[in-house]
Amino acid sequence: MMKSNLQFDHEMLQNAITEIDEYAIILLNPEGDIIEWNTGAEKIKGYSADEIIGKNFKKFYTLNDINLKKPDVLLQQAKTFGKANDEGWRIKKDGTTFWASVVITAVHNDAGRLIGYSKVTRDLTLKKQYEDHLNRINNAISDVSDYAIILLNKDGIIQNWNKGAQNIKGYEADEIIGKSFTQFYLDEDIALNRPFQLLNEATINGKAHEEGLRKRKDGSTFWAHVTIYPVKNLEGEMTGFSKVTRDLTEKKTAETERLKYISEIENKNHELEQFAYIASHDLQEPLRTISSLTSLLSLSYKDCIDQEGVKMMDYLQDASSRMTNLITGLLEYSRIGKDRSFSKVNTSEMINGVIADLDSRIKAQKAEIIINKLPNIVASDLEIRQLFQNLISNGVKFHKPDSTPKVEISATENESEWVFEVKDNGIGIPEEDQESIFMIYKRLHPREKFEGTGIGLAHCKKITEVHQGKIWIESEPNKGSSFFFSIKKGLNKKG
Ligand code: ADP
Repeated sequence: MMKSNLQFDHEMLQNAITEIDEYAIILLNPEGDIIEWNTGAEKIKGYSADEIIGKNFKKFYTLNDINLKKPDVLLQQAKTFGKANDEGWRIKKDGTTFWASVVITAVHNDAGRLIGYSKVTRDLTLKKQYEDHLNRINNAISDVSDYAIILLNKDGIIQNWNKGAQNIKGYEADEIIGKSFTQFYLDEDIALNRPFQLLNEATINGKAHEEGLRKRKDGSTFWAHVTIYPVKNLEGEMTGFSKVTRDLTEKKTAETERLKYISEIENKNHELEQFAYIASHDLQEPLRTISSLTSLLSLSYKDCIDQEGVKMMDYLQDASSRMTNLITGLLEYSRIGKDRSFSKVNTSEMINGVIADLDSRIKAQKAEIIINKLPNIVASDLEIRQLFQNLISNGVKFHKPDSTPKVEISATENESEWVFEVKDNGIGIPEEDQESIFMIYKRLHPREKFEGTGIGLAHCKKITEVHQGKIWIESEPNKGSSFFFSIKKGLNKKG
């Protein structure tokens, strides 16, 4: 009874082993010839039992391993120590390889004599590929010197350390691996539990970002940009976090400097504008007195002064009216940007209005004005009108003596701005003057040739800047000029 039970158990075990398909379970005789072969072995290595029983297990080893006598060494080890473990590439029936984890156990009979070996093999190719992949990534990461790239376990304990981490934070790998990542945080952030809040955020959202101050080994601080991702294993379980840190101190300092510089320039500009406003405003008063007294003088004393005196009087009047123009221009210049009411402007209608205002000049010069399709924009109505007026009247004014002026206005758009063009067929502008003519009072010609104050283009430049745009020229002497200016789209009424 006892015996038949044993026989039954033995048979059951035999069948169970045969049917296991996750593990290749093989029996070898003492020479390494295969005597038993289960379903798992067939599945992993591709041979059926009929094909392989009787063959030597060396068949699965690579040429290199055979040259190194690895199969014999493993059997010898199992024979001596009872067991041999190995991992390595093995060959399947179809010639492809798989990564095998192997345990060979010596089997003895009741008398203690070696009668063969059992060999259990698992196919760990996927795991091996994953580990190789991780290793490759780790090697690449360890050489990165501009970014601190570290792995944390679930509790925030540092698992590895790359060159970048050393450069940025000042610790050597052996000083810091095994310590908590909270070391890098300022005391006040630790008190607020910020480090672990970030890990939580990464766990919940799949990512956490932060910019803030962090501590180096020597206690100094740096401005860090930190990104944390959860790390999962092959089975999808979270095993910890990856943490990438960049030192943005330089960038941050440069940005702070830039903002400081901008604010200084803004202050200076504001002071200059105030000065220009006050100066021009206060100068107007005595100038008005000079103008009116000169007129009065020339009227009241015209019979008492000679020809030469009349001429001088005319010069005086002319100069004071020019000075009035210059001062008015300066006053207007200082006021640009003060109009905070941006509204919808139909530029096509606006230009028709400008042309009507310039009618007498246009007619006198027999000028032709062409208006192409123009957009509605959001801008300061007053200032844009002034801008078009200056450019169109310049286009009419600076014409060649032998031809009638032709001015064409058009517009194009890109994603962020409208670009307008005012093109003429006039005298053109030499390349070396194309920047300086936007400076206040800059003129290229004597008054006798072309009248003006030299302030119109300075106005235009300031107006475009107020509309977050630019103004520029394409021109060739004697061929004409194109003035381009851009106006940012989507401008709001400024506060
Ligand atoms: P103004 O017209 O009162 O002289 P602006 O500031 O409008 O002052 O122009 C500055 C100078 O730029 C002009 O004196 C002229 O020399 C040059 N300029 C401006 N517009 C044109 C143009 N369309 N063609 C040629 N030169 C021009």
